[in-house]
Amino acid sequence: MAFEGLADRLQSTIKKITGKGKVSEQDVKEMTREVRLALLEADVNFKVVKDLINRIKERAVGQEVMESLTPGQQVIKVVKEELTDLMGGEQSKIAVSDRPPTVIMMVGLQGAGKTTTTGKLANLLRKKYNRSPLLVACDVYRPAAIKQLETLGEQLDMPVFSLGTEVSPIDIAKQAIDKAKNEHHDYVIIDTAGRLHVDTDLMDELQQIKSTVVPDEIFLVVDSMTGQDAVNVAESFNEQLDISGVVLTKLDGDTRGGAALSIKAVTGKPIKFAGMGEKLDQLEAFHPERMASRILG
Ligand code: GDP
Repeated sequence: MAFEGLADRLQSTIKKITGKGKVSEQDVKEMTREVRLALLEADVNFKVVKDLINRIKERAVGQEVMESLTPGQQVIKVVKEELTDLMGGEQSKIAVSDRPPTVIMMVGLQGAGKTTTTGKLANLLRKKYNRSPLLVACDVYRPAAIKQLETLGEQLDMPVFSLGTEVSPIDIAKQAIDKAKNEHHDYVIIDTAGRLHVDTDLMDELQQIKSTVVPDEIFLVVDSMTGQDAVNVAESFNEQLDISGVVLTKLDGDTRGGAALSIKAVTGKPIKFAGMGEKLDQLEAFHPERMASRILG
């Protein structure tokens, strides 16, 4: 399960302090040292850990006394609130354009789960919000990627717009939006090309698609199993494209949690959804508070 190591370590650290009727500065020091190590071991970004620990220390030491909680519980409350804030506080919503269709551009490296997530997101929009999305295949470099999206479309019984591999992705995206307007699709989800690494050609193409279709959302899909790499990838994509949110995939795997806990702090952009499996209904809204509770037990 995701976060297993981190959760185990934090929970045993916390157990030591929960019952305490009095929490000394020394207790806080020991606790924060262990929390720090646990986070670093879970591959959380170094600077993120440092800032977080400083905030926890400040708040835990200068804690106002609350009647309903033991001092130990209060310290834990601080840790939980800080972890929640770190991951983005309030859960974020998905955009709705007042001039349909709402355009969502999916970006990310190859293998991150972009095409699968495109299908999952379409499924969620239809199921939960009663929307009628049009999927668009803009990865013209890999015929297999187009086929994959078409197969997902068939499974979902949802239209996929594709013009093969000879037309430029910018033209495909433009024509897809015209089609969506004519056929009253309220969402257009564009599956763009991915590469194994961030590269200039890819970024140029994505920027051109962005300036042509002016998307309401740009979701970066990252693989949570790749830890700090996922954070670096998010930083690059955000610098180049000013993304609106992140979808973190493979949270059903045994990720250590570093990406989930660092991306918001490093990029300033929220994690909006989490991929929890390969099936098309395994995409969930990302709830920072629930995630923090899961980690802290
Ligand atoms: P793309 O190259 O970014 O379009 O990646 P794909 O959508 O083809 O996904 C790559 C692989 O990751 C596929 O085998 C997917 O089934 C798998 N995958 C995607 N999302 C998840 C997820 O949330 N959990 C798990 N376990 N597998 C996923």
